[in-house]
Amino acid sequence: MFDRTYIEDAKASVGQTITLAGWVSRTRDLKKIRFIVLRDKTGDIQVVVKPDNEQLFNLDLGREDVITVTGRAVESNVAKAGVEFQADSIEVINKSAQPLPVDIMENKKSDLDTRLNYRFLDFRAPTTNAIFRIQNALLTAFRNYLSGNGYMEFQPPCIIGSASEGGADLFSIPYFEKMAFLAQSPQLYKQMCAISFEKVFTITPIWRAEKFNTPTHLNEVRQMDIEQVFSDDETVMGVLENTLVHMLKEAKEKTAEQLKLLGRELDIPELPFRRITYTESIQMLQDEGESILWGDDFTKTQEKLLTELVGKEAFFLKDWPGAQKAFYAMPYNKENEVDAKYLEETYGDVEMGDKVVRAFDCLYSGIEISSGTMRIHMPELLRERIRYKGLNPDNFEYYTGAFAYGAPPHAGWSIGLERITMTVTGMSNIRECCMFPRDRDRLVP
Ligand code: ATP
Ligand code: MG
Repeated sequence: MFDRTYIEDAKASVGQTITLAGWVSRTRDLKKIRFIVLRDKTGDIQVVVKPDNEQLFNLDLGREDVITVTGRAVESNVAKAGVEFQADSIEVINKSAQPLPVDIMENKKSDLDTRLNYRFLDFRAPTTNAIFRIQNALLTAFRNYLSGNGYMEFQPPCIIGSASEGGADLFSIPYFEKMAFLAQSPQLYKQMCAISFEKVFTITPIWRAEKFNTPTHLNEVRQMDIEQVFSDDETVMGVLENTLVHMLKEAKEKTAEQLKLLGRELDIPELPFRRITYTESIQMLQDEGESILWGDDFTKTQEKLLTELVGKEAFFLKDWPGAQKAFYAMPYNKENEVDAKYLEETYGDVEMGDKVVRAFDCLYSGIEISSGTMRIHMPELLRERIRYKGLNPDNFEYYTGAFAYGAPPHAGWSIGLERITMTVTGMSNIRECCMFPRDRDRLVP
């Protein structure tokens, strides 16, 4: 439809007549010259209009009007980019309503609520734009890294017939004659795919019906998950740290300009990440006077404090109490020689095998960004763990049954896309890192 040249390419076509297309960022009208800053996805350029072109000189232009400009790029030692654009003609494609409801120049930044109400416009503000360019780099890196390492991408269903984790925090929806639920995780589906396809990953939305009111929780989240067979918790912790480092390196390289705009210096964590046990970390917090008991979950403040104590940007917290993690987390087996040796070496007590399971969290920049476990692949043990959680195994037949026909040992994890974006961009509110956040109060846009 439009034979257009992107602004970044205009610089390479000095002297030729070309047409640019984009938005009017601002105009500056002086007596003898008119400047229009034109913007497209590749950057901006100063368009110069001389008074001898009366029609262009007097053309009514406002912020965010969509225009095309035909003319020539010329070298300039005043323009920031080293070139400016001399306009021969301008076509107004679509006028923007005025005034703009959010300050996308970010001189006086509008409040988050207003920005979210006008998200389509807020995307044009440099910092918001940078956040989602960075998020895109993280997503692309995740997908490329796993695809390149033999993982197959799969798509789980989002409407499910029953709870995958047995929890109550599910949104229910009417589904013809029955009730259905929005998936709180792709758990069962990734396991079902892995036990046939061996190494799989997905990027999928999930929903949590908790009445959160925190800067780190949304009710709709995008999760980046993997699952793989012939693997235990340590195997997939290795995959996680490598994937994460790859994602961070890619973001650092591909969105250097955006990170700079946000004032972020991205330090790539060293491999391998430090591993500390849940039990050790409880001790560390107690030594600092925190009121936390063995068996408790950490508050977000305690996660931050722990990061200060461990002194590492990214680390694993492993061997969680069984009560804190889902029923499908693999317990240690004291009777097994390898497990017994690990328990003895780590805790000086094989009996700890009855208390902790092969589950881990990854903390990055003081916040949980990922959780994973080795899963139980034996239906009988699964039923036992479901009972141990006070649930009825008969209600989980659809789940336990999947492992009755040759399921290898397997493990996996999940990274929250908005959480990782938050840590990389340095935002303090997760809503900044979700294009169209869903929280307790927000369902539009
Ligand atoms: P948290 O303890 O932080 O509430 P969780 O342990 O309930 O999270 P998991 O079930 O482990 O969450 O989900 C895997 C990852 O998905 C988390 O590590 C996090 O990055 C992300 N995530 C989970 N729930 C949310 C949420 N409500 N809002 C934003 N991200 C979330
Ligand atoms: Mg978790």
